Amino acid sequence: MSGYFKNIKDALWTVLVGMGITWKHMFMRKVTFQYPNVKRPVPERARCRLYVRIDDCIGCEQCAKACPVHCIEIETVKALPNEDLGTTSTGTKKRLWVTRFDIDFAKCCFCGLCVFPCPTACIRMTGVFEFSEYRRSDLMYRFSSMTHDQARMKKEALEAYQRDQEAKKTAAAVETQKKTVQAEAADLANPSHDATT
Ligand code: SF4
Ligand code: SF4
Repeated sequence: MSGYFKNIKDALWTVLVGMGITWKHMFMRKVTFQYPNVKRPVPERARCRLYVRIDDCIGCEQCAKACPVHCIEIETVKALPNEDLGTTSTGTKKRLWVTRFDIDFAKCCFCGLCVFPCPTACIRMTGVFEFSEYRRSDLMYRFSSMTHDQARMKKEALEAYQRDQEAKKTAAAVETQKKTVQAEAADLANPSHDATT
């Protein structure tokens, strides 16, 4: 019988303790947020989504080399001598077309190692942390402003220029060789030349 009353006492005490905690929390400062309607400020050094200011990118690939998970893909095409790509906002001369600059955020571990080696400070962490997608392919961000066709045309123009330069070099080498052969033939035809000198 005493066990029966003890159980009732314990139950009442438990209810009292529970209600006491509830009442105490009603008067405490709230620590919860009504996310996503209310958002906490992002810390200054937060590691979130990357952004690339492509106009300032010189295609040096330092960021891609620093990336531990190889999620940055860069392709460049050398500018032709008659093409002036201008300078970055920090005054660095641009010599390469950045035909591809992709970051796969499905692989990125947000370490920030790509940010520090950039000589023009054009790749940086933003405060954006909400960019979930339904498809993994949508996490591939393409920063190059060039289309596939434009990139192909730049590549083809460079290849044509290189072929032209190669042909000119070969023609110059052939011409030099021809002159050497002609000079040797003239020497053979005029053996007294050696004797008189
Ligand atoms: S933050 Fe880290 S993992 Fe992500 S792209 Fe930069 S170096 Fe690679
Ligand atoms: S390190 Fe900077 S300048 Fe070089 S390729 Fe990366 S983003 Fe472009």
